[in-house]
Amino acid sequence: MRIVHYPERVLLTVGKPVGDHEFGVGFERTVSDMFETMRDAGGVGLAAPQVGLSQRFFVMDVAVEGNPKPLVFINPEIVSVEGEQVGDEGCLSFPGLYQSVKRDMRVIVRAQDMKGEVVEHDLSDLAARCVLHETDHCDGIVFLDRMTSLKRELAKRKIKHLQKTGKWE
Ligand SMILES: [Zn+2]
Repeated sequence: MRIVHYPERVLLTVGKPVGDHEFGVGFERTVSDMFETMRDAGGVGLAAPQVGLSQRFFVMDVAVEGNPKPLVFINPEIVSVEGEQVGDEGCLSFPGLYQSVKRDMRVIVRAQDMKGEVVEHDLSDLAARCVLHETDHCDGIVFLDRMTSLKRELAKRKIKHLQKTGKWE
């Protein structure tokens, strides 16, 4: 799958919820292709809009002690958050751009799994950061929007530079 780069419109559009009738073999295929695309690109999360699908779901694999832990979040809703973390964040739709972003430290997220069942996940640290970042993608929000205005201006300048040098298409 081709990863869509900022500022393509699909990244800035609120995704449509995944309907019950959409679960099945075709959807499973899409999800497995997304995992492959994410791993090939060296990412830990990939949301549907990043591969051009304007829908509310994402895949994530934040390995725990070196063991892969692939998870799919369909129609994610953030139930509650607590704490705070500040750290560098990247995004496969912003190649080469890493910028400090403040996020909640812990998140409880409710989402459907591949069987369509609603599951709650209680996650912290990198997993929480990833869930917040990817849920934002489902809502047409990119990490630029989560930066302080100073950092955002800096990031925009870096993007322009990367575009000019052909490192961003
Ligand atoms: Zn992203």
